Amino acid sequence: MIPALMPTYSRADVAFDHGEGAWLTATDGRRFLDFGAGIATSSLGHGHPHLVAAITEQAAKVIHTSNLYRVPQAERLAARLVEATFADSVFFCNSGAEANEGMVKMIRRAQYETGHPERYRMICFNGAFHGRTLAMISATGNAKYLKGFGPAVDGFDHVPFDNLNAVRDAITAETAGIMVEPIQGEGGVRPASLRFLRDMRSTCDEFGLILGMDEVQSGMGRSGRLFAHEWADVAPDVMSSAKGIAGGVPMGAILAREHVAKHLTAGSHGTTFGGNPLACAAANAVLDVMLEPSFLPEVDRKARRLWFGLVEIAREMPDVFEDARGAGLLLGLRCVPPNTEAQAAFFDEGLLTVAAGDNVVRIAPPLVITDADVDTALSMIRAGGHKLARGHHQVAAQ
Ligand SMILES: *Cc1c(COP(=O)(O)O)cnc(C)c1O
Repeated sequence: MIPALMPTYSRADVAFDHGEGAWLTATDGRRFLDFGAGIATSSLGHGHPHLVAAITEQAAKVIHTSNLYRVPQAERLAARLVEATFADSVFFCNSGAEANEGMVKMIRRAQYETGHPERYRMICFNGAFHGRTLAMISATGNAKYLKGFGPAVDGFDHVPFDNLNAVRDAITAETAGIMVEPIQGEGGVRPASLRFLRDMRSTCDEFGLILGMDEVQSGMGRSGRLFAHEWADVAPDVMSSAKGIAGGVPMGAILAREHVAKHLTAGSHGTTFGGNPLACAAANAVLDVMLEPSFLPEVDRKARRLWFGLVEIAREMPDVFEDARGAGLLLGLRCVPPNTEAQAAFFDEGLLTVAAGDNVVRIAPPLVITDADVDTALSMIRAGGHKLARGHHQVAAQ
């Protein structure tokens, strides 16, 4: 019989009762170091006092009112995001897929309103992940996600990632824009080169295309800057955010420059829950923490500590780990055995990680990890790796 909770995930047999910082305690008392952060989402870790207080206070006052009325918490959050980024205006929604849908709608509408109704196609990349709605599985382009869901939504052309010539070759009279993750997450933790991001900016300017970036996973501090494209010193025209933006409370956002944003007018796009007082209180609390001057430099410093440790482990165990990859606190180990085996070995050591494409185990801890957390995680990875090496050798010897 089908479980009451629809079985769209193959879940590990563990449930968590509470947490503190990067640590989670399961209902059976086991403790885990959470280096998956609920898929790069629990940006401030678990039980962060400032976030918990903000949510609790707001919940007691008013949770939801709808966008039929002013929402001061949303106005404040938008103003702060505008102040901190390239954007002139922000639309709030509830998930990464919804933010990407809105971003593509905005790009198409902007081309339509500026004399180019024929420009509706987006250039996307092999290995991308943009979410699970009907249009976003087409933007993602992964056959596994498209199978059995009818004709793919038209308007998404795929080219190899990090390849400027392929992008330029794919541009036609119908191209509206480009949608790119500065660091591919689900697809295997692959950062685009900074040069590629700059080249896409100039290519979009040259052809009148709109540059959209999906920073759902790479953004909100994960790279060591507020958004990953800042490392390349170029800005998109429009960008999606979600995952870590509200510390685990569901929220997405579209951040855009005025020349794109102004084409979504009253009535042209909407969402019931988007930017409600509760979610915005959470996101404002996250920003309070992330905009402290020392926070992002600390993320960068801890990320380097973790990175060098992973590189060393990969070098020590070439039979188990092919390489370390990623940027900031969005890192991965490409595995020789199946990544699910590596993930299980780490789990047995008490470390939570997340599988990604390309046989990678993704390591995306809360941004508030301590040096001690990093060192503990590295020793757990090393111990898991040794066990995998032995298992692997046994298999090879048989
Ligand atoms: C997770 C993710 C999405 C989808 O976000 P949901 O909140 O699951 O809809 C889109 N793009 C990227 C880059 C992601 O990592």
